[in-house]
Amino acid sequence: MTATTQLIEPINVEQQAQVLDKTQATLRLAECEYGRRFPAIPVLFDLRGRCSGMYRVRGNEQVMRFNPHIFAKYFSDNLATTVPHEVAHYVSDCLYGLGNIRPHGDEWRQIMKVFKANDSRTATYDLSGIPTRRQRYFTYCCQCQSHRLSSRRHNKLTRGEVSYHCRQCGDSLRFVAACQGAT
Ligand SMILES: [Zn+2]
Ligand SMILES: [Zn+2]
Repeated sequence: MTATTQLIEPINVEQQAQVLDKTQATLRLAECEYGRRFPAIPVLFDLRGRCSGMYRVRGNEQVMRFNPHIFAKYFSDNLATTVPHEVAHYVSDCLYGLGNIRPHGDEWRQIMKVFKANDSRTATYDLSGIPTRRQRYFTYCCQCQSHRLSSRRHNKLTRGEVSYHCRQCGDSLRFVAACQGAT
């Protein structure tokens, strides 16, 4: 018997606006405390998997990403903890440079104190109903059936490092299509 889990819908636009407001308000607290401007940072609601939030730097591009499903399930808690958590990463990056400090070290904890936010990082959410990270699959076929290969195996095949054969018919696998599927 399998228990059916209700899939959680992502937060709606009004809740997204609340998250953006909270982000701005939290940044303003930092601006008062440190007496300087922290430029607005792009906020995306595209995070999947088991993390509630993420602060990411790629080149000069800084971005905060939130998980719209975990936020939907535990909205007020994420508003109170996850938003300041990621804003504190951004502020500590502006103040010290991420490479110079430990990610959740003294500097980051000091900023969380300014935000009066919980820095324990021990939230154990029940994540049933939260969609898992999307993984890419590649469809191959042989003479008798179609096969689903992970991108890791697909890349090996493309580079000619391996060849895969069907266990049923012994035919070598031929590439058909790439598809996006939930794990
Ligand atoms: Zn963190
Ligand atoms: Zn086959």
